[in-house]
Amino acid sequence: MVTSYDILIKNGRIIDGTGISEYTADVGITNGRISKIAPQINEEEAIETIDANNLVICPGFIDVHSHSDMALPLGNRLESTLHQGITTTLIGNCGFSLAPVNEDRLDIIKREFDMHAPPGASIDVTWRSFAEYLDSIEQARISSNIASLVGLGAIRIAGGPAYDDRPPTKPEREMMKKYIAEAMESGAFGMSTGLIYPPQVYASTDEIVELAEVVAKYNGLYFSHIRGEGETVLKAVTEVIEIVERSGCAGGQIAHHKVAGQQLWGKSKETLHLIDEANKRGLSITCDQYPYDRGSTSLISLLPPWVHIGGIDKLLNRLKSSEIREKIITDMENEKSEWENIKLEAGWENIFIASTKTEKWKEVQGLSLSEISQSKGYPNEYAALFELLLDENAEVSMTMKSMGDEDIERIMKSEYMMVGTDGAGVSPVGILSHGKPHPRHYGTYPRILGKYVRERKILTLENAIHKMTGFPAQRLGLDDRGVLRENAWADIVIFNPETIIDNATYLNPHQFPTGIPFVIVNGVMVIRDSVQGEELPGQVIRKSK
Ligand SMILES: [Zn+2]
Repeated sequence: MVTSYDILIKNGRIIDGTGISEYTADVGITNGRISKIAPQINEEEAIETIDANNLVICPGFIDVHSHSDMALPLGNRLESTLHQGITTTLIGNCGFSLAPVNEDRLDIIKREFDMHAPPGASIDVTWRSFAEYLDSIEQARISSNIASLVGLGAIRIAGGPAYDDRPPTKPEREMMKKYIAEAMESGAFGMSTGLIYPPQVYASTDEIVELAEVVAKYNGLYFSHIRGEGETVLKAVTEVIEIVERSGCAGGQIAHHKVAGQQLWGKSKETLHLIDEANKRGLSITCDQYPYDRGSTSLISLLPPWVHIGGIDKLLNRLKSSEIREKIITDMENEKSEWENIKLEAGWENIFIASTKTEKWKEVQGLSLSEISQSKGYPNEYAALFELLLDENAEVSMTMKSMGDEDIERIMKSEYMMVGTDGAGVSPVGILSHGKPHPRHYGTYPRILGKYVRERKILTLENAIHKMTGFPAQRLGLDDRGVLRENAWADIVIFNPETIIDNATYLNPHQFPTGIPFVIVNGVMVIRDSVQGEELPGQVIRKSK
């Protein structure tokens, strides 16, 4: 008998990603695509059959907020993302993308990349243009699909004032716009910003609107890590809406939406109201979220923006001066600060060191700055912070507990929210197993399906899966992914809704989740019986014009 299907999945509960109720059917896969969905498909017509009795079959998850940029040149297996069911990853978030690269500013770029790379690792920057960058990912081959935004940070370094705290000159503005146009021509899905991070923190709303107008010409999106998630969160959400409205971008996305700082908990009512109003006025504003009460970023983000002017070496020099240290402390204690003051939002007891690089500071991974200061006998947390940053060349990451459960659940239920990890493809083994990364790298999707769907019943299974598949596909304009439909790409996750759960913790993050036995990317089974094979069937997805 002639076989019609490469893979046949039988007897599963189909949740198709559109949000409609589940139904039972068989799914046939041929040449990378879903070729048939029917009540009964004959097993003899398939080369390989999976019995999915009592399991859910759904589209592969689309992670709209990833930072796998740095991981990709160091490893193409993306273990922590594949094991949680992610089959398509959008990189280039928070204004941070590895392209474009201006030859004349290669030294600044290399310094920045090394800072974010694991110890001993260095990124070989073989590309310059955005097109060359996407080609380089394709040539290295990947385990799952990759799409990308272009980051304002990269644009400001390539063509703008880089780490200077000033508006770009007219020629610089033209150069930045040229770089954005090239990225959009090459298949970027839009532009991202991270407005608490230098050098982007120095960009005004007007500067961003002018650049976003180029994105709008290509029908692209504006994704933003907003200017403040604490005291200034309402103003920051309003800025995203203003930028989308004035520039004419196809849509706006508020990255990892949260309210940071206990005194502000409850404010998500107002942020979601602003988003709702904007949509009712005809704009398209959405947000993404990961299901944890701690955030995570680089430890230097605790410092006021002026300390970062001129780049990382200048920052380190400033930390050596006792006079400047005093000024930093005064600014960080100022309750009226206009910049994102994470230390005031979370408090020293809730700021934990995630990853360090030197032997001297290895043992503090997982500890709070209060604990470190006390156990090591420093006069206060600032003294510990400054010494740690100097010893480590500022290459330290942290997690900070600043979110409330009520806000997390309210945002999760919002019709405008889709899931994004804010994580990256790391691994329990090899160079990417370094440190204690935020558990969201491993557990975002299974945690929502286990803790928030099964245990707390915050979302229905169908709605949660829509937020992981069909909704992000719609946001990115991917017509043939994110849904289980005949002729769509066969990106598929098969999981057990009774057992699925995350296992990664803050102290022991490098752990795969439970309950996801099969993951299929473009018709190829990459995870089989919960074990990842050697296959690299991923594609680079470029935005169609
Ligand atoms: Zn961010």
